[in-house]
Amino acid sequence: MGLVSGLEVIEQCMSRGLVAGAFNTTNIETTMGIVAAIENTGVPTFIQVAPTNAVLSGYDYIYDMVSRRLAAVDVPVALHLDHGRTLDDVSASLAAGFTSIMMDASGHDYDQNVSLSQQARRLTPPRYALEVELGSIGGKEDDLGPEREATTDPAQVAAFVEATGCQMLAVSVGNVHGYAPDVRIDMDLLRRVQEASAVPLVIHGGSGLPAEQLGRLHEYGVVKVNVASDLRNAMIRTFGEAYVANPKEYALIRVSRAAVGAITDVVESRIRTLNPGI
Ligand SMILES: [Zn+2]
Repeated sequence: MGLVSGLEVIEQCMSRGLVAGAFNTTNIETTMGIVAAIENTGVPTFIQVAPTNAVLSGYDYIYDMVSRRLAAVDVPVALHLDHGRTLDDVSASLAAGFTSIMMDASGHDYDQNVSLSQQARRLTPPRYALEVELGSIGGKEDDLGPEREATTDPAQVAAFVEATGCQMLAVSVGNVHGYAPDVRIDMDLLRRVQEASAVPLVIHGGSGLPAEQLGRLHEYGVVKVNVASDLRNAMIRTFGEAYVANPKEYALIRVSRAAVGAITDVVESRIRTLNPGI
């Protein structure tokens, strides 16, 4: 099937009552692990990379690697730019073949956020989904934290969605990036945001949230949940354990394949947690 547009993944999920996981990749082991889990579950999914991680390989390499792995996979998958911060990020990832875009201008004030999101909408083909962020999600991602942290104000949601022309809205409702302790979504706030939003919602920071809340997000208009830290930790842990077990270990391919298996397990587990019905 190969890559499909972000809108295709959203529409398929909404029509089937599913929540798409959005899993960050940077390398072949992570990509292979994610794709194997997608094949095992059959749930439409986003594979994504942020500009902070694309510095390793560039968008072209990510596109080549992901699209090649997906060529024979019969499940809809979109390749998504996670946390694009500039219009250059948007243009560069689209030029490489990405099919879904996040413009995160949430670090700016409201009017600038609207303006940058609108400009990203104009750059992004209509069938490609645009995700934007209102409020500012806390926690650290690749050592980058937001300059300010603010929950999404339900009173701003309807006008923001309308003005930006987005297809997905990332919200800050108690969720934070990474592994902060005791993180919980404020489900009442999430409900109020859902009621004000004409488009489905996105939750970032899926790694740190309790399974009991993740399994209910489909009832709250959420269509996409980002998970990054869990996969990275699975890969680093696999290599770390191999080294601790044998400081003279040199069988890189054996350890790499073990890492693929560990990542597959994590991704499959998260997809099933998000979709208790499958
Ligand atoms: Zn995020």
